[in-house]
Amino acid sequence: MTTLLTTVDVAKIVAVHGLPEMHRRLVAYLEADFRRWPEFDKTARTAAHSPVGVIELMPVANASEYSFKFVNGHPGNTKHGLSTVMAFGALADVETGLPTLLSELTITTAIRTAATSVMAAKLLARKNSKVMALIGNGAQSEFQALAFHHLLGIEEVRLFDVDAAATDKLAVNLAAAAPALRVRFCASTRDAVRGADIVTTVTADKANAVIVDADMLEPGMHVNAVGGDCPGKTELAAQVLECAKVYVEFEPQSRIEGELQQMPADFAVTELWRVLTREAEGRTSDTEITVFDSVGFALEDYSALRLLRDCAAELRLGRSIDLVPRMDDPKDLFGHLMGTAAARKAA
Ligand code: NAD
Repeated sequence: MTTLLTTVDVAKIVAVHGLPEMHRRLVAYLEADFRRWPEFDKTARTAAHSPVGVIELMPVANASEYSFKFVNGHPGNTKHGLSTVMAFGALADVETGLPTLLSELTITTAIRTAATSVMAAKLLARKNSKVMALIGNGAQSEFQALAFHHLLGIEEVRLFDVDAAATDKLAVNLAAAAPALRVRFCASTRDAVRGADIVTTVTADKANAVIVDADMLEPGMHVNAVGGDCPGKTELAAQVLECAKVYVEFEPQSRIEGELQQMPADFAVTELWRVLTREAEGRTSDTEITVFDSVGFALEDYSALRLLRDCAAELRLGRSIDLVPRMDDPKDLFGHLMGTAAARKAA
């Protein structure tokens, strides 16, 4: 049998545990899975592009489990009443191929993307970081702000979006969810970035945008670049990468989709898992500039699906569904379909 988790189930899990605890638990799952990086069979996701967006399939496997996520990215979707990013995914048993979990992943992607950003910032941002600029105030933004507030001690967020209504929405949501978090409205990205310890860019535009330029950078900043995640869709000027230490999830995918797509093939980057396992260095001084060039990698969704499965089992949530047929005689698929197998058994 396959367990189905809907958006209602995931909302119940978050209601019981609270978002800070979900972020905390997911960071722990992510760190555990990134530490065993060599055990996974990894591949860059496959993408179907159109003029207005992209649909991607993100598989990953280890010796016992296989997972995939189906996800889209359509920056114009909000005009049609749909989210820019929508997703679902599955876990399957490698031994038999049986799908064991089918789940919503739209809400979960926002939680996992913020948790991944925190995992990276724990390794790369200055330990005394208190102020974060948050550029792009759409669906992902609350999750980023709250994860950095609860898990990394960010005390002030400086907000900017080209859509003032999105910023108003974010400020109202943050005031309710985290009254201790100071919120500042900013007139521009430059205004928001000035004096920030961490700069999070999470904008949606199918363009090679320059949200952050090199002359906005200050010594010791950490840039958490989340929105540039597709060929032809970037947020940082190439000069930002040139004056920073750049970290990525899975290098072959990031070279195609990340800020890295702007750089020569031999531009040096470090995969995050190597910093976690202490094979490579993260930040080594309070003055260097670090960039997490986030695109979203399948292993993060595997960690998130694992967490959902564990939470659903603890809370007895989810519904068993016949996603694949259950048969007394697995060779008699036709009889199962026609009902003759059941009739034969009853006779
Ligand atoms: P959204 O459409 O809900 O919000 C995006 C916001 O960016 C909008 O409010 C828009 O007005 C704003 N924006 C666009 N151009 C801007 C600019 N030049 N300056 C300031 N603001 C600008 O989208 P979302 O779901 O919040 O996703 C944001 C981005 O994050 C998307 O590009 C998405 O593809 C990406 N994303 C990345 C990952 C990852 O793992 N790296 C995961 C999920 C989403």
